[in-house]
Amino acid sequence: MSDKKNIAILGSTGSIGTQTLDVIRANPEAFSVEVLTGNGNADLLIRQAIEFNPNTVVIADESKYQYVKEALASHDIKVFSGNKAIAEVVQMDSIDIVLAAIVGYAGLESTLSAIKAGKQIALANKETLVVAGDLVTALAKEKGVNLYPVDSEHSAIFQCLAGEFHNPIEKIYLTASGGPFRGKDKTFLSSAKKEQALKHPNWEMGAKITIDSASLMNKGLEVIEAKWLFGLKPEQIDVIVHPQSIVHSIVQFNDGSMKAQMGLPDMKLPIQYAIGYPNRMRSDFPRFDFMKYPQLTFEPADTKTFRNLALAFDAMNKGGNAPCILNAANEVAVAAFLKDKIGFLQMSDLVEKCIQTIAYIAKPSYEDYVETDKETRRIAEENI
Ligand code: NDP
Ligand code: MG
Repeated sequence: MSDKKNIAILGSTGSIGTQTLDVIRANPEAFSVEVLTGNGNADLLIRQAIEFNPNTVVIADESKYQYVKEALASHDIKVFSGNKAIAEVVQMDSIDIVLAAIVGYAGLESTLSAIKAGKQIALANKETLVVAGDLVTALAKEKGVNLYPVDSEHSAIFQCLAGEFHNPIEKIYLTASGGPFRGKDKTFLSSAKKEQALKHPNWEMGAKITIDSASLMNKGLEVIEAKWLFGLKPEQIDVIVHPQSIVHSIVQFNDGSMKAQMGLPDMKLPIQYAIGYPNRMRSDFPRFDFMKYPQLTFEPADTKTFRNLALAFDAMNKGGNAPCILNAANEVAVAAFLKDKIGFLQMSDLVEKCIQTIAYIAKPSYEDYVETDKETRRIAEENI
């Protein structure tokens, strides 16, 4: 019997997906790739399939099915298309762990489906927990599924908690780089362009999360993600801006002691920790050099200028379907900003408008979340 972990990578053609394949390429004795999925980037999906020889690939964009099918015709690889197919293949018996790295609400259905089938989850797709954290964590508990965080801040918290799971957390500090617009005022932001917002100082990521980082919505989504992952009350979560992105987050225990996890910013590290857990696999990533960083600095987040962070805290406090509305409105807003249809500051206006307009549901069912997402997108589009 092989002791390799069989892995399904959802969103393998994205930033997290390709870095996960880098980790697997460097550790071929530890992993076997069972499933790869992409959406628009059929050529990359085909190249990945030829290199890693998975059992199955799924291209979410159905118009590209024939193209992928023909390209892989001489390989022993099953090809399917559509998001329903992704939700089905994640339940295959041969899969041990599912790395969920589809971006946005689109990743919710397949993650829930994998949890239903009892698969361990390495979770990059934070929107899953923002939209339906109550349902996702309850189902994971019922099925005995662990959610291993891939997001660097949550991986940091998780690493600080190793050996401490029985000790109550007093508080966590999520660190934020502040993004490319740290220190800017509203006058600057009102004319900020996507080319500027897409230049993150410390991380190379997909377009959506890069814009979210510039607007601090990413940190807002991460606050809600942390609440669900670590079972925290809103008042136990604080955000602190740390421009060097070396301290990835901090846990404070009830004796006042604090633990932080540090390292150079490289997503391969949290990815590797999530899929390799409980082992730390050797890596050749560059090591941190204190002399190159004589000062690590910390400052408060400017929630007056970057209103998204305040809106996310409000949505978390409100609970129910409020975070689902926040997320859907933000997805529409970011897509519109990337098409130059709205300005940078209008993204927060749109999110706020949707939260004010759409009916609040205190205890939503899965169907309520689906309906809330749809309705929010409709109202948001109307307001652009
Ligand atoms: P990318 O945009 O780089 O990749 C997204 C992936 O999802 C691609 O494989 C894309 O396919 C696929 N995809 C997009 N839309 C759909 C859809 N409707 N149905 C099915 N598949 C789809 O995003 P990232 O890798 O940056 O981010 C992925 C997730 O990880 C996000 O939730 C993000 O918040 C989170 N995350 C990312 C970090 C990072 O450093 N990048 C850090 C922490 C969290 P294709 O490219 O073929 O169109
Ligand atoms: Mg993060």
